[in-house]
Amino acid sequence: MNVIVVGGGPSGMLAAISSAQNGNKVIILEKNSFLGKKILVTGKGRCNVTSSIEMEEFIKNIPGNGKFLYSAFQNFTNKDIINLLENNGVKLKEERGNRIFPVSDRAEDIRACLENVVRKHENIEIKINSRVEEILTEGEEVYGVKLESGEKIQANKVIIATGGNSYCRYRIYWRRI
Ligand SMILES: Cc1cc2nc3c(=O)[nH]c(=O)nc-3n(C[C@H](O)[C@H](O)[C@H](O)COP(=O)(O)OP(=O)(O)OC[C@H]3O[C@@H](n4cnc5c(N)ncnc54)[C@H](O)[C@@H]3O)c2cc1C
Repeated sequence: MNVIVVGGGPSGMLAAISSAQNGNKVIILEKNSFLGKKILVTGKGRCNVTSSIEMEEFIKNIPGNGKFLYSAFQNFTNKDIINLLENNGVKLKEERGNRIFPVSDRAEDIRACLENVVRKHENIEIKINSRVEEILTEGEEVYGVKLESGEKIQANKVIIATGGNSYCRYRIYWRRI
């Protein structure tokens, strides 16, 4: 199956890896010039990767009803991301409050590791500087995307992993002071 992942942040990279491991041919379309740009500002540049707390504690700490996360946690947990990073050469440490950081204190190491894992999969193609402008549909079926450049790419499935606007606000904040 051909799969398009729109957005090459941590969610898009992990979705692409999972999809590729299930035998699909995947394309990541990222509007920036490299994958995982926002990771670089996380944890004040150190990236607080996850927490070592138990799943029940995670659920309890979600505002509102966190039970909707049970199904996601059935498939991928805090231990899975720790294993993925450590198995691919990133040493992690635990700080106060159960917070997990890279030993290097460099968010770039987390970003680079995820990109390296993506690149290890021959069935994942990365297209940077590729902003998706439109999701192409016929009736109720999605059949591809149209890029800002006008190029159309077809696929059996399209995964949207375009994140939120938090980094935009963060940048405006820094411009104001
Ligand atoms: C200041 C700050 C600090 C943070 N610290 C932490 C932390 O320490 N630990 C933690 O776990 N989380 C932290 N977060 C939250 C974390 O950054 C997000 O949860 C995470 O980046 C979400 O990943 P994502 O892949 O869903 O989205 P994003 O990282 O936003 O990735 C989405 C990607 O989609 C691309 N994209 C968007 N629209 C299009 C389009 N039309 N076409 C093509 N590409 C597109 C974007 O360029 C981007 O690369 C922090 C956030 C901020 C702002």
